[in-house]
Amino acid sequence: MLPSLFPRWHSRQLIAASSLVLLVACAEKPTAADAVPLAPAQPAPVVGLATADVDAGSELQPVQTFAQWQAGFREQALQAGISASLFDRAFSGVTPDMDVIKADRSQPEFSRPVWEYLDGALSPLRVRNGKRLLQQHADLLAQLEQRYGVDRQILVSVWGMESNFGQFQGSKSVIRSLATLAYEGRRPQFAQDQLIAALQILQNGDIQPEAMRGSWAGAMGQTQFIPTTYNTHAVDFDGDGRRDIWNSTPDALASTAHYLQSSGWKRSQPWGFEVQVPAGFDFWQADGSQRKPVSEWLQMGVTLPAGTQLPAGSNELSAALLLPAGARGPAFLVLDNFRAILKYNNSSSYALAVSLLGDRFSGWGFIAGSWPKDDTPLSRSERMELQNLLNASGHPAGNADGIIGANTRKAIRTAQQALGWPADGYPTHKLLDSLRSR
Ligand code: CA
Repeated sequence: MLPSLFPRWHSRQLIAASSLVLLVACAEKPTAADAVPLAPAQPAPVVGLATADVDAGSELQPVQTFAQWQAGFREQALQAGISASLFDRAFSGVTPDMDVIKADRSQPEFSRPVWEYLDGALSPLRVRNGKRLLQQHADLLAQLEQRYGVDRQILVSVWGMESNFGQFQGSKSVIRSLATLAYEGRRPQFAQDQLIAALQILQNGDIQPEAMRGSWAGAMGQTQFIPTTYNTHAVDFDGDGRRDIWNSTPDALASTAHYLQSSGWKRSQPWGFEVQVPAGFDFWQADGSQRKPVSEWLQMGVTLPAGTQLPAGSNELSAALLLPAGARGPAFLVLDNFRAILKYNNSSSYALAVSLLGDRFSGWGFIAGSWPKDDTPLSRSERMELQNLLNASGHPAGNADGIIGANTRKAIRTAQQALGWPADGYPTHKLLDSLRSR
């Protein structure tokens, strides 16, 4: 579960519609992407309901009652192999949860700067707790490294980020939350698929309905898996016959290891490392789609901070240049293992936090570069204004939705280039002011 962050490499957008008609939008193709995570461990589908109406604060009236929706959905669930008795037990007393609807419709005006997010994610208390748990579960972690080829530090780091090592798993009924979202959320088909998967988990006997708890978006347990991810990747590692990511640490850590293994994690390879970028660098290269061997980046003038060394064996690995706060902030070369973390949660800020937290457990992971703390993120309305101004000044940014996707980033770069500025694609107040005064 992540706070809303300024998207760096955004891959998708919801499209505003004027009625209760579902539309599919593919305006912006995924790259190594970043987004406000809507459902951890799986990218949100590009299907949306009337976001413009939601913005206006108007009530989106469902075309049917909850009872009518439930009756229709019950048919589908039974067709999908859910038994009538299980369905009726799981739905006993279920009503829509207004808090879930509110959370689903909220579009925060202000974003937290990435440096504040990292400060919270990498708190000294979390680092201490992680180190202690690495000791406490050393035998289990050694078995998981053997079985799945995923390094122990990254497993404990993901555990810390997802649920604060199991302490914050979410206390909402998963069935109720997903039923609410399937009935009148912004992505009903996605929620319905998750709900079917959740019923399959109950039918399998892994957990009792009343114990199936999670976040408002249906992310469950110590791993914060959504139900479909649970069905493909949850593991019974303690051998009691149930995949219990809520109460069993072996099951939860093994499930995370299984997921990272499937996402391409390579044992003992680094996630990446901090670098420094020379003056006059071509910042068009700093994009998730631009991957080249580490050696090539070094030939282009990228250097390592004083006192650091290139991780052994990383010279020929494929890397992208990540600038979480634009050209004025710290820079990182991120490798394939970073992309594996992005598959857990498609946000480069999240993946950076997981990576650095894992390093902190071993006593490094401190950033040499300084953050541009005078450069606070644009608010949502400022991002929309920026998009409108870019469009009006011959730099097509697409629909002014406040989401900085690939099109908007490209428009920012061409505008920056026209001004003779570093073309890092990062939206700043300085650029907004410059376009306002044209
Ligand atoms: Ca188990």
